[in-house]
Amino acid sequence: MRASTLLNRLLCLPKATVRDVDIADDRVRVGVRPQRRRMQCPHCDYSTLHRYDTREVDSAWRHLDLGGRVCVLTMRRRRLRCPEHGVLVEAVDFARLGSGFTRDFEDLVVWLATKTDKTTAATFCRIVWRTVGAMCSRVAADKLDPDRFAGLVNIGVDKISWRKHHKYLTLVSDHETGTIV
Ligand SMILES: [Zn+2]
Repeated sequence: MRASTLLNRLLCLPKATVRDVDIADDRVRVGVRPQRRRMQCPHCDYSTLHRYDTREVDSAWRHLDLGGRVCVLTMRRRRLRCPEHGVLVEAVDFARLGSGFTRDFEDLVVWLATKTDKTTAATFCRIVWRTVGAMCSRVAADKLDPDRFAGLVNIGVDKISWRKHHKYLTLVSDHETGTIV
């Protein structure tokens, strides 16, 4: 079986297919392409088959490590014209808007940040410390359940800072379920 086919099965990226792979000393670069012809606006539900153009450079996202190596996904993204938001680079399902990391990677870091301190999470995942706070904000905005306060009794509170300590984020967790509310 070809390496790209194997990796496709291994990574199971939503709406993206592995195109090529190359391995350097400490990193694996996985080139992917969109699975669908239809392009999605990153800000709304608008999607179209009409391509405005294609970017001249690849976009890159850090993904979960592969075989102990840093894994980076790259994709040459297309642009579309949304009637409401103008000309934009298409959205990808495997990463949140504006992030240089995949959803899976961010979910791992944020889960770790709820279990240990930010320095440990950052060191373990080989990312800079202040990135953890930005990831917490993105994941919280994405995943918070509106009914999260129902039945909340035992809570834990932790405060973290990022952007050279000028921004603070308070994390409140439910001790019963171990989730961030
Ligand atoms: Zn739009």
